[in-house]
Amino acid sequence: MNANSKALIPVVQLSDHEQEVQRALQICNACRYCESFCAVFAAMTKRLEFNQADIHYLANLCHNCGACLHACQYAPPHEFGVNIPKAMAQVRLETYQEFATPQPLGRLYKSVGIPFVSALTLIFFFCMLAVVWYKGTDLFAGYQGNFYAIFPHNFLALLFGATFTVAIVLLGIGISKFWRQTSKVIHGKVEKPDLVQATQNVLTLKYLDGGHGKGCNEQDDRYTQIRRVFHHLTFYGFMLCFAATGVATLYHYFLDLHAPYPYLSLPVILGTLGGIGLVVGPAGLLYLNLKRHPLHGDREQKPVDRGFIFLLLIVSASGLALMAFRNTPYMALLLIFHLATVMTFFITMPFG
Ligand code: SF4
Ligand code: SF4
Repeated sequence: MNANSKALIPVVQLSDHEQEVQRALQICNACRYCESFCAVFAAMTKRLEFNQADIHYLANLCHNCGACLHACQYAPPHEFGVNIPKAMAQVRLETYQEFATPQPLGRLYKSVGIPFVSALTLIFFFCMLAVVWYKGTDLFAGYQGNFYAIFPHNFLALLFGATFTVAIVLLGIGISKFWRQTSKVIHGKVEKPDLVQATQNVLTLKYLDGGHGKGCNEQDDRYTQIRRVFHHLTFYGFMLCFAATGVATLYHYFLDLHAPYPYLSLPVILGTLGGIGLVVGPAGLLYLNLKRHPLHGDREQKPVDRGFIFLLLIVSASGLALMAFRNTPYMALLLIFHLATVMTFFITMPFG
């Protein structure tokens, strides 16, 4: 490389979807009607032009709430055809693919739909069934809720712990690549109040309130909080299930208390409450996804959205069924199916 080539400014060729976001945001910047709706518009007003890092950052700030589409006087069929939620969703998919680790697997983001997760779950189910059959375990004996009579505790802890750790590391690498690129657009340091504010916004899903507190749009111009409620049930249900697993691990290793735990023990109460949230939340989100206004978001991503929600639903429904029927002869089959759904969830987590 000679001295002249070092002086050249690198040119980043924007994709068609990135150019569409750039075009739409330039119209929004002149209009600014939606300025108070969400963080996207507040951030947008700090720019007159948008480079690739700006576009990636803004696309991932958008919650696809639909409020700006329903408010927009330039939305289709207007000739300007401004559809911010759709343009942002299309760029988001590109960022998921670009920052996926390993990157070639990013194309899975387009295929992890309901058929894919169902097939993977069945593959794991039959593999585990084959292992149990090979060991000569009686599938329908009365095990009184003792899961470890089917698979030893250490085997489960090692297999699922290792898979979950790999999934979290891959996700973490993807997030750090995204952070490195988009942090170029943030001037100054991220301060403690920023982190507190961002955490509050995440935990309350502030930007699903439409900017006026009445909620976002689903099928039409009416505002509703229902999507926020279902998201909260899903998220806090997941956290309760995670807490149940953590408490059970402490009981096992530090208090020498082993499963199965009574119905009124802390791990079972946390797991049951979390499981109910994780059934009701995803079932509601799946229903809303099927009913959403056709101009919201990117139609091509609906299969992957539905695949992920469906997977959460079968993980939690099979977990609750396992808890309810753990003292019956069907416990082993339910356990194997539940473990197959959990394994599918962990494996698709960085790409789904
Ligand atoms: S989405 Fe439409 S109404 Fe809202 S700021 Fe952009 S151009 Fe204006
Ligand atoms: S869809 Fe909602 S979150 Fe996304 S830019 Fe529009 S108002 Fe903001």
